Amino acid sequence: MPVTGECFCGAIKYQVNGKLRNARSCHCSRCRKAFNAQASAVAFVEPSEFTWLTGKALLSSYSNEQGYGLQFCKVCGSTLCTIYKDEVLQVSLGCINGDPDIEISQHIFVGSKANWELIPEGIKQFEKKPPSVT
Ligand SMILES: [Zn+2]
Ligand SMILES: [Zn+2]
Repeated sequence: MPVTGECFCGAIKYQVNGKLRNARSCHCSRCRKAFNAQASAVAFVEPSEFTWLTGKALLSSYSNEQGYGLQFCKVCGSTLCTIYKDEVLQVSLGCINGDPDIEISQHIFVGSKANWELIPEGIKQFEKKPPSVT
């Protein structure tokens, strides 16, 4: 069964015809703002395996000068994915429907987490980038 996801209002839906990979949560101040939360929660996808099913015209994009950015719903504001040079790089785990059969394996940039966030014991943490970061 393919992994599917949608925004809060349901206008935008997508499908991933493959496995999600390398799920991670980044606690830096930029991700807190981009994902309106204590951290991001994303997983990598193969761009060729990702398809928008409905509502693509309602997507809004924001990219930095390096070509990294976000795509979100113009109507409800859900951050659906990260992009690199207009291709989908990671999907936001919060917008996935059902169980995508993956767990967050790395919590990164915990050195710059918000003071109000408590990180549970026993999870794999990195002060900054993990050595294997792509
Ligand atoms: Zn929406
Ligand atoms: Zn971050």
